[in-house]
Amino acid sequence: MRVDIFTVGDELLIGQVVNTNATWLGEQLNTSGARIGRVVTMADNAQAIQAELDRSLEAADVIIVSGGIGPTHDDVTRQALADYFGAELCFDASVFQRIEERYAARGQSPPESNRRLAQVPEGFEVLPNPIGTAPGLLYMASVHDRSVLVVALPGVPSELKAIVQDHVVPRLKDKVTVAPSAQRTMLTAGIRESDLQDAIDATEFLSHDHFALAYLPSSKGVRLRITAQGSTRQEARARLEQFEDHIRARVGGYVYGTGTESLEAIVGALLRAEGRTLAVAESCTGGLLSDRLTNVAGASDYLRGGIVAYCNQVKHELLGVPEAMLEEHGAVSGAVAQQMAEGVRERLNTDIGLSTTGIAGPKGGTPEKPVGTVWIGIATPITTAAHHFVFTSDRLFNKDRTCTEALNILRLEHQAAAEPTVGVPLAAETDAAK
Ligand code: ATP
Ligand code: MG
Repeated sequence: MRVDIFTVGDELLIGQVVNTNATWLGEQLNTSGARIGRVVTMADNAQAIQAELDRSLEAADVIIVSGGIGPTHDDVTRQALADYFGAELCFDASVFQRIEERYAARGQSPPESNRRLAQVPEGFEVLPNPIGTAPGLLYMASVHDRSVLVVALPGVPSELKAIVQDHVVPRLKDKVTVAPSAQRTMLTAGIRESDLQDAIDATEFLSHDHFALAYLPSSKGVRLRITAQGSTRQEARARLEQFEDHIRARVGGYVYGTGTESLEAIVGALLRAEGRTLAVAESCTGGLLSDRLTNVAGASDYLRGGIVAYCNQVKHELLGVPEAMLEEHGAVSGAVAQQMAEGVRERLNTDIGLSTTGIAGPKGGTPEKPVGTVWIGIATPITTAAHHFVFTSDRLFNKDRTCTEALNILRLEHQAAAEPTVGVPLAAETDAAK
């Protein structure tokens, strides 16, 4: 089943609003078994919408149109669809009554312009909007000897989502005849996309049409989306497991979770289970590491606190980094990262100290230490080490990526402590001092 997505709105074309409806619809409909044929963004212009309808009606089974069905004069989708399919706009009293009830609940009555929302093209079905005033519209168009489902939805993302979930997905399920599939997202950190691909070596699996693997890199690591199809749901699930087992056997040490889990929550759970405490010393991340750690409810069980030691004087005075060391190695160095981790561990009296120091950019790089150079230090009761990375030229990406790697180092440290023989080599060079 092919679905085409139209997103209508001048604001989308000129970059004023990020087109989240397109990505959300793509993901939602794809996981409901549809194949997305194309996504088209167009102006609030009836001719533009109608020209795209001409094309999509030839090939798609479903056309979803988002935006432009509101009450204002710039909302042209309703009229464009009515004209295209030769349907008269008729006032639907029950739609207007629902709008009046929404306003009445706040002690108000609807503005006159809202009468437009109750204008329903003849032969169109109304899809109630549970959280807003503009309802969705649905039309079964006949094209040659096929029928094509055309759905118009409000542009406001929360309203669009509610109507899709309540009314559109259930209908698509009836139409879908694709093979059952199973999907899972595995979350990795500590390894680059290309190295991951080499290490996984999925060639054998991917030679079959019923397996798919996507690499989705971000500052939170590389997500692996694996998909398997089968003639039954059970077979799809079994294949997915087989594929996942292969990946875990190859790169399991880098996999920190699945789905929507977060690295900070996983690391937090490990620290809590062991009853270990943590303190952080942040330079280039400027508090972001503490922010991510404290996004997890109950973080006070293991996180004692942190010191943002941005300038050298603070690294010296609050973390005990010797001035001579800063002079000799520079603030962005393995030696300073280690001393920061040890310093914060001692001063905050914790089991583990974790530190970050780096050149976030866009300026401040040198040939020896280019922008993106980062050292992450970790101090435990047994050892102190520093890990070296070179990321990108994007400042905010570098800050977030540094936090991801720092959290991952903490995770791997736990793993190594629990099973000393199963250490995972980090992608980056490691510099252990003691
Ligand atoms: P309304 O009843 O609010 O007027 P509508 O169907 O007319 O709904 P639009 O006027 O096109 O929708 O858009 C309403 C708001 O929804 C816009 O201000 C915009 O912020 C947001 N929006 C519209 N389209 C998208 C989109 N594709 N992705 C994300 N947000 C969108
Ligand atoms: Mg509008």
